[in-house]
Amino acid sequence: MSTAFLVKRRGAALLGGLDAAVRRHPADQARLVTFHAVGNRVDGDVHGIYDLTPAEFARHVDAVVGAAEETGLPFLSFAEWPAPGIVVTFDDGYADLVGTVAPVLSDRGIPFHCFVTGDRLDAGDPRYLDRAALTELASVPLAGIGAHGWRHSPLDAMQADERDNDLLASRSSLEDLLQRAVDTMSYPFGRVNGDVRNAAERAGFVRAACSTWGFAPPACDPLLLPRIDLWAGDSPRTVRHKVLGHWNWFGRLS
Ligand SMILES: [Zn+2]
Repeated sequence: MSTAFLVKRRGAALLGGLDAAVRRHPADQARLVTFHAVGNRVDGDVHGIYDLTPAEFARHVDAVVGAAEETGLPFLSFAEWPAPGIVVTFDDGYADLVGTVAPVLSDRGIPFHCFVTGDRLDAGDPRYLDRAALTELASVPLAGIGAHGWRHSPLDAMQADERDNDLLASRSSLEDLLQRAVDTMSYPFGRVNGDVRNAAERAGFVRAACSTWGFAPPACDPLLLPRIDLWAGDSPRTVRHKVLGHWNWFGRLS
């Protein structure tokens, strides 16, 4: 992990603690939390924050459950947004969603939404869900499936045709396999601008999550929903503070 990030992270945790001492954030606003891998190496994870151990994942979930109890917010599926609640999301479609994540969340009765990259299903990379594993995941009662790009490339860096084709392929590849509508997505690398947002809407997506930090109250554009990132190395206190809103100023730093 880079020293600069470590310093920023420690400072953020300190400021989160100070915020917690002086402020109560609205308890009735939806918040979407983001995880990535649980036990699978994440490409480009220069700060070492996106791959949790199974034990740490379970601790994070317990801390989120604690924050849910504190706020009185229920856990909701992504389809229930903008109802006030906590929505648990996963980016990238790692293979651990089936064997590790689904049992932990199913045992606790927590719905979760998995954004899956289309071309990884056939890539032969054991870190990611393949077709059989995604089909199994989609059969889990509390699991929702959304798209996360066809190639996991920044959509804002593509030519318009390429971008539109990527969005359509990201959706149709999942719909063809699962034989169900897929109308939700998250943007690869959180990279989105007005053109990408509008292209996602034209491609048939009705709800899309980005990586902007914060709560997602009903006034949010449904195709630009902020989220709260939960990281490896976060203490239970930090996870709680993040869900309660004490890191909401963090978006202005990142
Ligand atoms: Zn991603």
